[in-house]
Amino acid sequence: MRSSEHEVIVVGGGPTGMMLAAELRLAGVDVMVVERRMDRTVDGSRARGINARTLEVLDQRGIVDRFLAHGQTHQGHSLAGVSLDLSGFPSRHPYGLALVQQQFERILGGWFDELGVSITRGVELVDFAQDDEGIDLELSSGRSLRAAYLVGCDGGRSVVRKGAGIEFAGSEATRSWLIAEVKMTEEPEIGVRPGGGIGRAADGERFGVVLSEPEVGHGEVPTLEELRRALIAHEGTDYGAHSASTLSRFTDATRQAVAYRDRRVLVAGDAAHVHPPQGGQGLNTGVQDAVNLGWKLAQVVRGTSPDALLDSYHAERHPVGARVLRETLTHAALQDTDRRTVAVRETLAEVVRMQEPRLRLAGAFSGLDIRYDLGDGHPLLGRRMPDRDLVTADGPARVFELLHQARPVLLNLGDPGRLDVAAWSDRVSVLDARDEAPWELPVVGVVSSPTGVLIRPDGHVAWVGEETDAGLADALTSWFGPPRPRRNDQW
Ligand SMILES: Cc1cc2nc3c(=O)[nH]c(=O)nc-3n(C[C@H](O)[C@H](O)[C@H](O)COP(=O)(O)OP(=O)(O)OC[C@H]3O[C@@H](n4cnc5c(N)ncnc54)[C@H](O)[C@@H]3O)c2cc1C
Repeated sequence: MRSSEHEVIVVGGGPTGMMLAAELRLAGVDVMVVERRMDRTVDGSRARGINARTLEVLDQRGIVDRFLAHGQTHQGHSLAGVSLDLSGFPSRHPYGLALVQQQFERILGGWFDELGVSITRGVELVDFAQDDEGIDLELSSGRSLRAAYLVGCDGGRSVVRKGAGIEFAGSEATRSWLIAEVKMTEEPEIGVRPGGGIGRAADGERFGVVLSEPEVGHGEVPTLEELRRALIAHEGTDYGAHSASTLSRFTDATRQAVAYRDRRVLVAGDAAHVHPPQGGQGLNTGVQDAVNLGWKLAQVVRGTSPDALLDSYHAERHPVGARVLRETLTHAALQDTDRRTVAVRETLAEVVRMQEPRLRLAGAFSGLDIRYDLGDGHPLLGRRMPDRDLVTADGPARVFELLHQARPVLLNLGDPGRLDVAAWSDRVSVLDARDEAPWELPVVGVVSSPTGVLIRPDGHVAWVGEETDAGLADALTSWFGPPRPRRNDQW
């Protein structure tokens, strides 16, 4: 292989690209990231928090404590002004974490560096062409690269998505907001108001401002003059705003790639879906896209699974993205201040205060209720595996500890040694364990105790055994490739 050839090239080293490249590296894939930014500085104001499922995903890789040490846990989800408290959910992390994107990228980047992922900084992908065997990429530096697969984690304006001709279906911006940290010569009124809010910034000198604009603004980088105009429109004064340390714009443009894959090209994160940030879902969805895709792409590159496994990435993650788009549009629409919207918000608030709707919405916003459609069966099938406390021959273990290396795990919770998966032993770790506590899933409630669980590297359940091993061989083959031939079969 020439030095400019890689098994996978990931374009974009933001949250999604870093997570994906780290997952591929863990699986031993030769992956290279191409990133336009010279370092990990995040321009403008972006994500301020991560949800419970992302915390679980980071826990599955043994790195969640790094994030928890730098943020504040909180119950931040709400709809129509009603708090959606997760504290009763059966999860090791029944909360969100307030942590700005700059910190998130710095901490994730630390893990990415430890894994030794290659990254080329300060260059852009400008063009590419795919053939049956791979993809030729052209960089802004004039350098060319070749890869077996290309993944676009290059944000909402994705060159990869556009180059692959993947339609980005949805709606244009109808509203825009400015978000800034700025000094003011007059003391503003602190608090939430229709169309936004003003609070003290962490530096103690500036004020954090989020305000809707009188007319839809365009471009990511607004001017201080535009911020002053928005302040005057809302407050009647600009409070002498000056010296912005951050100033950016976001809109309610909402779009989703109609396909997450075009042959050897895939898209993930904001490259696959953009939506207003209300509800705080973008970064979370991107990181979870990456964890769904990473192990599948690794297996296809290794030749353990057929290329068709990659279709399950779209099949599983597109519906999740579509639901996020719907949720964020709901949040954005409820911010309007006209009489009709106020009436809808008040009516909705009455519904959300009821136990069942509140539980369902909390499950959705936290990502803890995500279920991939793997067919009928035990309620655990297709859902995320809970972080159960197990008893093994080597002592106590947590399920998430078993997933640190991103390898599939077959848990035998019945009689020891009863599940024979020798033909997959090169790919799947098998563990006999005892787990006698009742099983409870977020939103679903108490379910019957399984006697065996096949866990994918992304933490989702691929097979559930109830006394027998019926269906296990099929699940192993579908997800982790055909059985290894026995020695005698080779002749
Ligand atoms: C105001 C605001 C608040 C938000 N709050 C939240 C929140 O609380 N929670 C949440 O989950 N999300 C939130 N989000 C959304 C979140 O910021 C994004 O969803 C997230 O950054 C997406 O990550 P990504 O890696 O997919 O894309 P990006 O972060 O956009 O990263 C793309 C990367 O690709 C690089 N790139 C682009 N084009 C090229 C190219 N041609 N060649 C090489 N490199 C390229 C870019 O430099 C960038 O590093 C918020 C967003 C905004 C604007």
